[in-house]
Amino acid sequence: MLLFTPGPTPTPEAIRVAMSVPTIHHRTPEFEEIFKAVREKLIRIMNMPEVLMLASSGTGAMEAAVTNLCKSHALTINAGKFGERFGKICKSFGIVYTELKYSWDTPAAVSDIVDVIKTNPSIDVLCIQICESAGGLRHNVEEIAKAVKDINKDIMIIADGITAVGVEKIDTAHIDVLITGSQKAFMLPPGLAMIGLSESAVLRIENSSKGFYFNLASELKNQRKNTTAYTAATTLIIGLKAMLEVIDNIGFDKFYDDAKNRAKAANTALEAIGLKIYPKTPSYAMSTVYNEHSKEIRAIAKKKYDVNIAGGQDELKDKLFRINNMGLIAPYEMAWVLNAVELSLDELGIRDYDGTANRVFVSKIFKGMQ
Ligand SMILES: *Cc1c(COP(=O)(O)O)cnc(C)c1O
Repeated sequence: MLLFTPGPTPTPEAIRVAMSVPTIHHRTPEFEEIFKAVREKLIRIMNMPEVLMLASSGTGAMEAAVTNLCKSHALTINAGKFGERFGKICKSFGIVYTELKYSWDTPAAVSDIVDVIKTNPSIDVLCIQICESAGGLRHNVEEIAKAVKDINKDIMIIADGITAVGVEKIDTAHIDVLITGSQKAFMLPPGLAMIGLSESAVLRIENSSKGFYFNLASELKNQRKNTTAYTAATTLIIGLKAMLEVIDNIGFDKFYDDAKNRAKAANTALEAIGLKIYPKTPSYAMSTVYNEHSKEIRAIAKKKYDVNIAGGQDELKDKLFRINNMGLIAPYEMAWVLNAVELSLDELGIRDYDGTANRVFVSKIFKGMQ
């Protein structure tokens, strides 16, 4: 079965092998050396001056960012499930927040955010997804972050990059907190979250941190010494070291270029067989299709063609299907996924199979056709 869901993604064999070592104790020079190497590589790939690793899924890092950085009032952007989650986190901690809501196919407008910031001077953090995975939507976080900083540089920009880090090169010039998780572009099992921090975010955390398990000041103090406040997710960190070495050997630029070319070719192939790409600004992390028969297409692709693709969420559960494009993906695997979709359309009597999706994808990837 090909696992093609936008998280979790399949763990490559070399990484599984790297993790198949006896558990080592986290308070040892051996582990500290591994931790140090991962920290250094993460700082490079996240393009942030400081990073933290937390033993939790991505949501734990979202919670930690909000509780440690927000001192008065949060602005959250809800264009899907994950943006909605920032609001839910604020609510559960009694943090005052204003939510800007968009349809799941529509990116946040810079002008809307600027208006809210100008009318609410108490706002001190902006929480936004880089890619909102609910609809495969790319927000223009770089431009939004710059516009916010132009108004008030003390507003912390919390960017959920869980489906963006490791997919594309992110301009972090105006981002203060960059969040990611192990089970998306890094292709590891779930359970490790990573947070990149700007110098200003580090200062705010050191001056007034909150919480116990997710107290980022105590993590900063420990992780700068290559250890963690509590037991580290040692096996996942060993896996991350191996994965970051794989990406480093490929080269960041090539890794990102491959993802971009594959995403564009897959979307063109899907359109060529009459399917509609859902988001107005698609991210490279996944191909998201709106179709009334999404549920049936997924069921046939899984049962007959051994391809597991994701559906949508909430009201769009059976109306969307999402094909992962994060991590190391061989073109022949993506080609088979697209064939499976086209074959499913044939079986449903929607469109006769003629190999168009495969031809378009392969020609774009290997023959440089537009
Ligand atoms: C997967 C994901 C998360 C976090 O999910 P966890 O299940 O807690 O790891 C957060 N934001 C986005 C955009 C995601 O895709």
